[in-house]
Amino acid sequence: MWYAGVGWEKSAYELAVLDHTGAHIVPPLRLETVGVGDVVARLLRLAEREPLMCVIDGTNGVVDGYLTAAGLDVYRADGDVAPLRRAFGSPDADILAELGRAHRSRLTRIALDSGTLTGLDQRIEEDLESAALVEAEQVASGRCLVHGRRVHPRVALTFDDGPDPDHTPRLLDVLRHYQVPATFFCLGLHAAAHPRLVARIAEEGHSVANHTWSHPYLPDLTRQEVLAQVDRTAEMLAGITGKVPTLFRPPFGGRNADVLGWLAQHGQTTVLWDVEAADWALPGASAIAQRVISDTDFGSVVLLHDGGGDRSQTIEALPRILETLMVSGCGFVPVEDLIDVAEQKGRVASSWTSA
Ligand code: ZN
Repeated sequence: MWYAGVGWEKSAYELAVLDHTGAHIVPPLRLETVGVGDVVARLLRLAEREPLMCVIDGTNGVVDGYLTAAGLDVYRADGDVAPLRRAFGSPDADILAELGRAHRSRLTRIALDSGTLTGLDQRIEEDLESAALVEAEQVASGRCLVHGRRVHPRVALTFDDGPDPDHTPRLLDVLRHYQVPATFFCLGLHAAAHPRLVARIAEEGHSVANHTWSHPYLPDLTRQEVLAQVDRTAEMLAGITGKVPTLFRPPFGGRNADVLGWLAQHGQTTVLWDVEAADWALPGASAIAQRVISDTDFGSVVLLHDGGGDRSQTIEALPRILETLMVSGCGFVPVEDLIDVAEQKGRVASSWTSA
């Protein structure tokens, strides 16, 4: 068995691979602004030679979906490694590899169908509960959006975790064909590797928004770490599009009262969602389409993904979603258009489906 630590620092991924004695199989690697596909390909080549255990920490949600989808065994190192994180990075890849080699019982194996946060359900629920009051206040004051007003036949499609070199262009082709604007919540690490894709998203009239740099679970981070994730990503995206994003979506929707407060004080509008199809769990194109179509209402914010794994099913589902909602008289808007829409008199809010 070999043990691969998969870390990140600034715009680089890092790999360290140890054998059972703790010796390096290959010299530790720093992969500057490469796509995650490069990281996966290197690990797959190693896994052909020897069973491989990959270890990430909770700040590195950009890679585990790709690794598990490629059939690799991925483990997550939790809270006790937090003091070892670099100023803007994960713990050193060597440390993660060594944790796999010598302390497997302290790690959590990531399951494909539960994703990065496997095993943390109770913690997430507690954090969400603690967020509820602040969230309600922020929704009332327009600092947090779950959905728009239920009076206009308008829907915002949002795509998270890109840009992805395989799936984002195909998704953009579909949106262009139907002339539908959407909002893309981009990750800084992916944008650094694929800036031209971010430029294309903006050029084709879509909104480019902030989804952090490395896709961490924010309640695990300090205030300084949260704001660094926001600011570095905003700088990266603004450097490409010329526009500083202020719409922010926390990875996994992970939030507590502190995180929501820090974001609002930092000028961010937190964008959540009211419709999601769990497309990341690959339920099939028709299940994705069906769920979006049946759950969408006036003002809905629909969460889908263009990155984080194989998004073919999402792309396949999209024409049916668009055509069905369009036939029902629904218009599509960038998500910022759903914030603070004045209520029109004489319209009656009602639940709405395409059926
Ligand atoms: Zn995400």
